[in-house]
Amino acid sequence: MKVLLHACCGPCASACVPRLVDEGHEVTLFFSNSNIDTAAEFGRRREAAARLAENDGVGIVTDPYDHGAWLEEAARGFEDAPERGERCARCFRFSLKRAAAYAAAHGYDAFATSLTVSPHKVSRTVFAASADPRFMHADFKKKDGFKLSVKRSAELGLYRQSYCGCEFSRQAAAKNGIISGNKDL
Ligand code: SF4
Repeated sequence: MKVLLHACCGPCASACVPRLVDEGHEVTLFFSNSNIDTAAEFGRRREAAARLAENDGVGIVTDPYDHGAWLEEAARGFEDAPERGERCARCFRFSLKRAAAYAAAHGYDAFATSLTVSPHKVSRTVFAASADPRFMHADFKKKDGFKLSVKRSAELGLYRQSYCGCEFSRQAAAKNGIISGNKDL
């Protein structure tokens, strides 16, 4: 099948591409991440995804960055929701809606998402975020998917971020002393 893989980042996608290819699918990455707080960070994560695509011999499409639209549609009113809460479910819906539209418009048989690799993301919440019949419920955290993503991204030297993506997750990570709260870093 021709499969569009919504890639939340290069490291997570690195655990999905070989599995989909092994199943006989023709894979294209769909880098759609308007949830990311700054254009600079979007660029860093996009570069890592492009490196993975080049290494694995698959195509990549970049969905234009529009953080304003994401704030309006996904985050407004849910800024203080905790990670794994309602803001995240809305965030998944935002990106998967775009993946579904792209897949339909460009003749893909199916689409999947690398969001299910992370142990911080509940796969059933991700699966509930799109009712599109093309959506493959591929749970990439199974069979040590996260471990594989850590291993492959280290081998390929991929940039690995230390917060999920939006400014609210950055603030939470800064509060926990994981990163700096400075948006310019
Ligand atoms: S914490 Fe991550 S999943 Fe949740 S809203 Fe922010 S970017 Fe989206």
